[in-house]
Amino acid sequence: AQAAPGGDTIFGRILRKEIPCNFIHEDDKCVAFNDINPEAPIHFLVIPRKPIPSLSEAGDEDAEILGHLMVTASKLAKKQGLDNGYRLVVNNGRHGAQSVYHLHIHVMGGRQLRWPPG
Ligand code: 5GP
Repeated sequence: AQAAPGGDTIFGRILRKEIPCNFIHEDDKCVAFNDINPEAPIHFLVIPRKPIPSLSEAGDEDAEILGHLMVTASKLAKKQGLDNGYRLVVNNGRHGAQSVYHLHIHVMGGRQLRWPPG
């Protein structure tokens, strides 16, 4: 799926509260919510409010946002009790199996994960 002009993706609609979604975190730069199709007992997404379509399209001007997403992911993982570890994933582009073209970090945990993935 390609990004529509104005970054109108399903996550854009979630951010604008056009689709109901319980945020597990929200601040001026990002929001986090549980993935609708979890791959692990805990699986949530941390997304910027800015509609950056993918990591490829993030620039130097986005460095602060990207850092904030990572730090927020870490804090939320701790808050959710993922003391035995967890995984962050950013799918990028077609070969990265990205399906929603609004940048997001997956945070997964709550079971033993294997590496490498398929
Ligand atoms: P991607 O493959 O782009 O990295 O992952 C997109 C993720 O968004 C998928 O894990 C998918 O389950 C999740 N997702 C897609 N649509 C929705 C939605 O409407 N609500 C929520 N909470 N998650 C969604």
